Amino acid sequence: MKGKKGPYKVILSEKEVPTSWYNILPDLPAPLPPPLHPVTREPCTPEDLAPLFPMELIKQEVSEEGYIEIPEEVLAIYKLYRPSPLHRAYRLEEELDTPAKIFYKNESFSPPGSHKPNTAIAQAYYNKIEGVKRLTTETGAGQWGSALSLACKFFGLDLKVYMVKVSYEQKPYRRTMMETWGAEVVPSPTDTTNAGRAALADDPANPGSLGIAISEAAEDAVTHEGSKYSLGSVLNHVCLHQTIVGLEAKAQMEKFGEYPDIVIGCVGGGSNYSGLAFPFMQDKLKGKDVRFISAEPVACPTLTKGKYEYDYGDEAATAPIVMMYTLGHKFIPPAIHAGGLRYHGDAPILSLLTNKGYMDAVAYPQTQIFDAAMTFARTEGMIVAPETAHAVKCTIDEALKCKESGESKNILFNLSGHGLLDLGGYGEYLAGNLVD
Ligand SMILES: *Cc1c(COP(=O)(O)O)cnc(C)c1O
Repeated sequence: MKGKKGPYKVILSEKEVPTSWYNILPDLPAPLPPPLHPVTREPCTPEDLAPLFPMELIKQEVSEEGYIEIPEEVLAIYKLYRPSPLHRAYRLEEELDTPAKIFYKNESFSPPGSHKPNTAIAQAYYNKIEGVKRLTTETGAGQWGSALSLACKFFGLDLKVYMVKVSYEQKPYRRTMMETWGAEVVPSPTDTTNAGRAALADDPANPGSLGIAISEAAEDAVTHEGSKYSLGSVLNHVCLHQTIVGLEAKAQMEKFGEYPDIVIGCVGGGSNYSGLAFPFMQDKLKGKDVRFISAEPVACPTLTKGKYEYDYGDEAATAPIVMMYTLGHKFIPPAIHAGGLRYHGDAPILSLLTNKGYMDAVAYPQTQIFDAAMTFARTEGMIVAPETAHAVKCTIDEALKCKESGESKNILFNLSGHGLLDLGGYGEYLAGNLVD
């Protein structure tokens, strides 16, 4: 490739890091259906949620403030890895021979390698200032557990992580990462909670699932003094904290002198994509023409095949019932699936915007997302997380459509994390062992 005029990337200065998160709730085109109590099926009150979360996060969950100030202590830790760069993918464009301009926001430079610390740090902070001593959480492959381990270490909180058993056994490096940052990690289901014992009674060889691990972590928090529970995706306050990604991206696109026609992200529970998308969605809700596409696996096709209805957030049906796209709270993705994004539901806000037609969704089989990840690694260099590879696949498809139509659209996607601890999946792909 000949040198381009550039810029190849835009990096904001530390002074330009946004000092507030963007809260999309007051701008939504319809009111968000409230979460319901799992037993009474009445709308949850703050008192219902207080055993699980600190009051400030409960307030953020329903806030009508358009912007919420980021506490100084949180910003100070953000600055270990923020602002993150926004790149122009010249080499990928050339490989695809497309007139489209491709941009990506790179969230892989945080210590655990993904966007997840953006909310982990905020959540640990609010728990700390309300006197909480210990957090519990679940993790699948370990990205969330590692992000929260880091955040808890910085704020002096103890952390217990219920890690889905099959990942605990197959992915030792994320566990080591969590332990390095001081967390206690156990394979879920355990025999130390009612939810875990019930899952093991049904099937002693239960490989675990995110839904079961959530039930265990939540039960642990409400039965231990000084403990609360933390969730890494789905909830409104998590999406709120992730908007730092989109707010930075908006300022960076402006420095490129461009605005995206299409905004793309991968969706597990919906947090990284909400974070990138919502600040641009703010413009669409005021009439700007922008397209939004969620990319998910066919092995866990929540937005493309799920129902938009009230469902439990966890397997044991003890968490609040929320209105979302869902495959049912008992759903467990097939064991052959190596691409992450395994949660049965999706963020209520993202679900509402999808249901009202403001966002589209596509699903891909895993061989296609690894094909796309290979193309990306061999042009832009970065080895992306398998989750991120769904967004890369969607971006490549849209860029190839531009090639056919001759249109020069601006495509922006979120590079939510690197894949350097997911090389097992790449190895399986290279060996030809992945099936759809
Ligand atoms: C956790 C994770 C995701 C999926 O979670 P969302 O809440 O949908 O963002 C995507 N990419 C990476 C790198 C992750 O670690």
